Amino acid sequence: MAHDEAPRRPQPVRGMQDFLGEQADRFDHVVSRFQDVARRFGFRPVHVPVLEHTHVFARSLGETSDVVAKEMYSFADRSGDSLTLRPEFTAGIARAYVSEGWQRFGTLKLFAHGPLFRYERPQKGRYRQFHQVDAEVIASPSPLADVELIAMADTLLRELGIGEGVTLQLNTLGDAESRAAWRAALVGHFAAHRDALSEDSRRRLEANPLRILDSKDPADRALVERAPGIGAFLTAAAGRFFEAVCRGLEASGVAFVETPKLVRGFDYYRHTAFEFVTDRLGAQGTLIGGGRYDGLIEAMGGPPTPAVGWAGGIERLMALAAAPPPPGVDVAVVAECPEAEHEALRIAQALRSAGCSVVAPFQGHARKRAEAAARAGSRAILYVRDPGQTPASVNLVDRSRDAGSAGRLAAIRARLPHPYGTPTGALPGSLPGSLSGPERSPARNDGDGRA
Ligand code: AMP
Repeated sequence: MAHDEAPRRPQPVRGMQDFLGEQADRFDHVVSRFQDVARRFGFRPVHVPVLEHTHVFARSLGETSDVVAKEMYSFADRSGDSLTLRPEFTAGIARAYVSEGWQRFGTLKLFAHGPLFRYERPQKGRYRQFHQVDAEVIASPSPLADVELIAMADTLLRELGIGEGVTLQLNTLGDAESRAAWRAALVGHFAAHRDALSEDSRRRLEANPLRILDSKDPADRALVERAPGIGAFLTAAAGRFFEAVCRGLEASGVAFVETPKLVRGFDYYRHTAFEFVTDRLGAQGTLIGGGRYDGLIEAMGGPPTPAVGWAGGIERLMALAAAPPPPGVDVAVVAECPEAEHEALRIAQALRSAGCSVVAPFQGHARKRAEAAARAGSRAILYVRDPGQTPASVNLVDRSRDAGSAGRLAAIRARLPHPYGTPTGALPGSLPGSLSGPERSPARNDGDGRA
């Protein structure tokens, strides 16, 4: 490389994204709304590793699922063990349940969020590193667990401002017996039209015929339309379970559309399967998907344990969610001169310890720092004078001039450390002569706090 050539700008890995500013705020907004809703429903956090032994996913998701067959980020670690970056939460949480003996806790209502990895073809709404919010109820066989989980997803969507234009599609995959009978009927149906199936679906016919129902290939769609739904194959018990879920959702005020050919991607689903879908995101319209996976924990070597859960894609939720309120800062502490620098640091720390959000701009003269405070969204500025002067003083200036400002300023003043302390009334304030602009207006100058 000629040495006047600029080095190539580094790029993120394909399908992986960086978030800053409003995007990062939106991301955090989705997570914090989710955590708030989950706690209001009585869920507790769970944290599991991002890496698992490959077999944790390979066995539970099904060797023939797209994720296991072609999308996992798997590699041999330095001791030769095959590890995989998690492509979903449920298998890892089920693994943890078995490894840690969590059955001793009875029914667990858990929530998690974090990054997942799938080697998919990147497009809008589909990434190779993406993020999910996830909720699971483990060790409850009750259809009311399904109802509560779905109601929680519905609440989250509404609180994110996404309720409109989103449909809850609901189906049952029945119990093992129903599912086996349905599977046989689907194989019969599709085998009779084998030549009309896409190549992928011909392969699925033996390995996993349910997944043909998921095919987006136009050749398959017509055959899927005419395929039998599960309804005719449900055992009485599976029918009652589904009925209880439907009636429970109605009682909870959650609208749904029965969707007899909805299947979920992974092998472990039983009974309830659901998706919250929207047409506002183009091809990637599934916001949240989930269902019951009664057989999974036992298949991993644990005790027979019914369970149900869902996951929602944070990138898709944040694309639709109402913009979060702009982040605000209570007060910026600005040293008026170099001699005031350390006193400004002391005051900023004291205010933070007292619960205020505080920025303390570092660079330039007081005017530059006041500008930085404005950019940071600070609602007030506290100018700190040279403490060597007598009396030592600070000057608290309002920037927002709204109805709440008097109360907010009083609250900041009450949190100032000694010797500034509580307000002594509106003393005539003076601002640094170098400052100009709205901060200088007497109406906004709230006066000094003084020892
Ligand atoms: P799944 O685990 O496949 O059932 O997906 C649950 C949710 O995660 C989906 O409804 C999407 O919102 C989201 N999701 C799944 N895969 C991706 C991806 N590759 N990129 C972005 N979001 C995804």
